[in-house]
Amino acid sequence: MKMSKMYMPTLREVPSEAEIPSHQLLLRAGMIRKLVSGVYSYLPLGYRSIRKVEQVVREEMDASDSQELLMSAIQPRELWEASGRWENFGPEMWRLKDRNDREFCLGPTHEEYFTDLIKDEIKSYKQLPLNLYQIQTKYRDEKRPRFGLMRCREFIMKDAYSFDVDEDAMRVAYQNMWDAYDRIFTRLKLNYKVVEGDSGSMGGSVSHEFTAMSDVGEGVIAYCKSCDYAATDEKAKVIYSIPQSDEVEKEMDKVQTPEVKTIEALVGFFNTDKYKFGKALVFLAQGEPVVVVIPGNRELSETKLANYLMIPGHELEMAEEDTIKKISGANKGFTGPVGLLDGTKLLVDKRVTTIKNMVVGGNETDYHYINVNYGRDFQGEVVEDLLMVEENDICPSCGEHLYLDRGIEVGNIFQLGTKYSDSLKAKYLDENGKEKPFVMGSYGVGVSRSVAAVVEQYHDEKGIVWPFVIAPYHAIITIVNIKNEEQVELGEKIYENLKKVGIEVLLDDRNERPGVKFNDRELIGIPVQITVGKMAGEGIVEYSLRKRDEKKEVKEDQLHELILEAFREEGFYL
Ligand code: ATP
Ligand code: MG
Repeated sequence: MKMSKMYMPTLREVPSEAEIPSHQLLLRAGMIRKLVSGVYSYLPLGYRSIRKVEQVVREEMDASDSQELLMSAIQPRELWEASGRWENFGPEMWRLKDRNDREFCLGPTHEEYFTDLIKDEIKSYKQLPLNLYQIQTKYRDEKRPRFGLMRCREFIMKDAYSFDVDEDAMRVAYQNMWDAYDRIFTRLKLNYKVVEGDSGSMGGSVSHEFTAMSDVGEGVIAYCKSCDYAATDEKAKVIYSIPQSDEVEKEMDKVQTPEVKTIEALVGFFNTDKYKFGKALVFLAQGEPVVVVIPGNRELSETKLANYLMIPGHELEMAEEDTIKKISGANKGFTGPVGLLDGTKLLVDKRVTTIKNMVVGGNETDYHYINVNYGRDFQGEVVEDLLMVEENDICPSCGEHLYLDRGIEVGNIFQLGTKYSDSLKAKYLDENGKEKPFVMGSYGVGVSRSVAAVVEQYHDEKGIVWPFVIAPYHAIITIVNIKNEEQVELGEKIYENLKKVGIEVLLDDRNERPGVKFNDRELIGIPVQITVGKMAGEGIVEYSLRKRDEKKEVKEDQLHELILEAFREEGFYL
């Protein structure tokens, strides 16, 4: 492509709305543009990268015997009612009505639709296993769309669904997809980890997330360096015990603690350890108040709480002051488990039951109880683990220590079991002619998000540093002075020659100052850089790679071989 004809609106300034590198650089490089919050257009350069990710995904899915099809984004309400997700999916679902008032959604995911699609067509065990996928636009009215392509309200996803005769066969399908994802993210050059995930609204029990490591990632993962344990912070089981002491249980007492509301202030006031406080948090779960008590030195995992209560995450919220007052009789900051309004649901993290002589809120403004002991002074529903994992917690698998890191979830795989086939009555006949529900799995890749993840891992202060596999073009030829005929001639000759051998090449033939061209070239991050300048008359050009600082002068006829060598170095082949 000749850049004089190209639509590539680069920006010199960093757009103020963009906080993270991928968002800033994709905007600045003229690859994407925002329409409204969380909705983007993919401009010519950006769309090339998107299509390349799609192609890698497609090749690896095809190689795993998954078959591509394309479904509609529009899905009728009835399908989602059958699975119970019309209610449960919550405000993320983008709902709409047709002219006859019939209700639909724009698909946030397609479990119901795929199950419905095959249920009347696949009748026998002989037609299984089956694995179908599509690469399609998804819609989710995210609470906080942000970070450019990272969290959008409209985005491209590859979603696949497997149908099997039983659990064992489903596990084979699951492993098959796991292997395909390993190949996909390896080819995309992402530094990633596979971690145990929380199954959330998908249902099912086992799931894994493919997480591209990045400091700006929204996900936190806990992992062990001594064994292969790795899980999202929402999922990671917390092995933590309260330091034991042989203290005797003292008599409970109520003490005045004016204006001492936070744990930090209390630690100072009582001059005792943080873990000796029973921290009470008040939530509304589907509108009903729930008080949760955890050790004062730890944080609560809202995902674990929602899972325990068996409600979708969006139906759990922190209670407001009026609810707190109603159930505790006190202002915020003084809630505790002793003497709550009768009938208030009280959940207690198991570890709280072992804190000796703890301090808790007094359920009276400006008061706390001291020397409170579980069992004797209050009782509740004891829950095994409601805590958020922390760095240095014990690895649940080998007993060593856990590390925390941030990452971007670029894909995930779920063992769904029969959740959707049961609710949508999707059955096949087994060898004995008996009806059985399909055992399913579902598998997603964030196609547009993956482009952002690659940029997060491959950029420097000047711009993007694309790996070949999804670079919009492989090479860029910069003609330093387009008024110089020799330069123009040689530039065009190289351009034609490289195109002929299948190399995707840009020719910067714009009538711009060299500085502008060089800056744009760094910004858009094309891997191979060829500069046609003063030595054009002798057929000599400057060759460099975006990812390195070295430049060398080479004869024009060496370029093809040099580029192939650069491909090989990255394990990339045309
Ligand atoms: P997240 O936890 O980031 O919200 P999710 O668990 O909701 O992700 P899935 O429903 O499993 O995501 O969707 C499959 C893939 O689609 C994700 O792994 C992610 O790469 C991508 N994805 C999900 N939500 C978005 C979004 N709002 N914008 C861009 N990509 C997304
Ligand atoms: Mg989500």
